[in-house]
Amino acid sequence: MTVDRILPTDEAYDLLDLTRELADRELAGKADEHEQHGVFPRETLRTLGRSGLLGLPYPEADGGAGQPYEVYLQVLEVLAGRWLAIAEAVSVHTLACYPVYAHGTERQRKMLPDMLGGDLLGAYALSEPQGGSDAAALQTRATHDGAGWVVNGTKAWITHAGHADYYNIFCRTGGPGATGISCLLVDAGTPGLVPQKPERTMGLRSSAPAQLVLENMHVDADRLVGVEGGGFRIAMEALDAGRLGIASCAVGLAQAAVDYAVAYAAEREQFGRPIGTFQGVGFMLADMATQVSAARALTLAAARLKDAGRPFSIEAAKAKLFATDVAMRVTTDAVQVLGGYGYVSDHPVERWFREAKVLQIVEGTNQIQRVVISRSLI
Ligand SMILES: Cc1cc2nc3c(=O)[nH]c(=O)nc-3n(C[C@H](O)[C@H](O)[C@H](O)COP(=O)(O)OP(=O)(O)OC[C@H]3O[C@@H](n4cnc5c(N)ncnc54)[C@H](O)[C@@H]3O)c2cc1C
Repeated sequence: MTVDRILPTDEAYDLLDLTRELADRELAGKADEHEQHGVFPRETLRTLGRSGLLGLPYPEADGGAGQPYEVYLQVLEVLAGRWLAIAEAVSVHTLACYPVYAHGTERQRKMLPDMLGGDLLGAYALSEPQGGSDAAALQTRATHDGAGWVVNGTKAWITHAGHADYYNIFCRTGGPGATGISCLLVDAGTPGLVPQKPERTMGLRSSAPAQLVLENMHVDADRLVGVEGGGFRIAMEALDAGRLGIASCAVGLAQAAVDYAVAYAAEREQFGRPIGTFQGVGFMLADMATQVSAARALTLAAARLKDAGRPFSIEAAKAKLFATDVAMRVTTDAVQVLGGYGYVSDHPVERWFREAKVLQIVEGTNQIQRVVISRSLI
């Protein structure tokens, strides 16, 4: 189904057309193969970078495309409908550009054109093996040496580990809790930075996360992003916007599942008629379509607050929670609409169902989103 979108500018309509065309040409035909064999799509990401899709919401003066967040998110949605791993990679890369963009020194900001143009792929390393939800308890330790820092510890679940050109490493430079954490900008290839084998994941196999072992890794003093002890704040600011990216990935995935299930239900016949004409199936499709529209509306409403410079983090948490739960329900129902054929990999709904699950976990589990929302209420 073509989604009827209201976009703020003519340029945005052109951008969405370009994205659809690029997604059909570059993504749709490659997703299955890459997911099956776990091949990281670095070349495809370069193509997206050359098309300007890796720095969309950042100012043109820094090398971005100067698009409102609501436009960037709708681009992500289109990408997610063709290949979730690519949309998630764009979302994570956009997140990984934030610390330098918002808090970087003049010298660090010189990297922005290459980051936003997609020549340099970024990663965001906050989680650790002993904890992701309680990120303020992280244990990776950076100690001062004469010319900077020596870092030891292990980061877990890092998207783009082993493929990224730079890493935002959140580590403890002070005492316990959030105020003891700093952000270091570390180039891939820095001695002591050792990406491990990719995890064997349920979905997103072309872009599986991996641990990063940090062994006596020396980082120059000028690689501190923002102020010492300010890293946790930077991490949370980045996640506020990042959660909207995950919400849009969920909307795009769920929309693809609705479209596929509707087309199947119109074709597949039982008892001499298309299954979509049975009320039991038709009502399921109606509920699926309604939930996706609601998830899109909630996500774009939060984005419009961000674009207007208003507080948006609670609305972003609601959007992430709602949209990713919708993606899980809708992809589950899409499998049901296809019956036995939904359970085999000949149809993409089987993969979409596996992929939807991770969206309820990353960038703060949906329980953590509820913690954030309930704290704001009480
Ligand atoms: C595919 C993938 C990609 C990822 N990419 C990245 C990345 O690029 N960078 C990065 O830093 N991290 C990344 N992560 C890590 C992700 O952010 C964490 O997995 C997530 O934050 C949860 O942390 P955890 O796995 O340690 O679970 P835990 O924190 O141990 O949580 C386990 C369970 O307890 C629940 N729980 C915990 N605390 C509470 C509470 N206070 N109230 C209620 N319930 C609670 C959780 O919701 C969850 O259900 C990725 C993870 C995956 C699976």
